[in-house]
Amino acid sequence: MTTPRMCQATAQSGEPCQAPAMASSDFCFAHDPSKADEADAARRAGGVQRARQMDRNGCGAPYPLPAWWPLESAAHACAGLGHVVRETLSGRLAARDANAAAGALSALVGALRASDLEQRLEALEKTLEHRSKP
Ligand SMILES: [Zn+2]
Repeated sequence: MTTPRMCQATAQSGEPCQAPAMASSDFCFAHDPSKADEADAARRAGGVQRARQMDRNGCGAPYPLPAWWPLESAAHACAGLGHVVRETLSGRLAARDANAAAGALSALVGALRASDLEQRLEALEKTLEHRSKP
């Protein structure tokens, strides 16, 4: 196995870039001067704004915090799904991130609905139990 050629650029930290160089270049995709426009577009699509929001909140919560955060009910999780759709269609959320968020939110909606149904069924069973006693 051969060691990959490494990018010749210096990262913002001042350390050498740790990414492998592209086959046709001495640089990685992010540092290749001939790919600067594409790299800029990729960074924007990758959610630089979202990263800043995560820095501000420290938890990945949307900023400013919406009424539906922190997703404690199925209705809140549905509102979160709506937010993901709006952010994706407006171009502020990358499709890859939207896919991950939508998958997690869909699972959460299902779990919260199942939990809600369990509680309602339990309450009905108690009511019926109470009624059937002489
Ligand atoms: Zn690099």
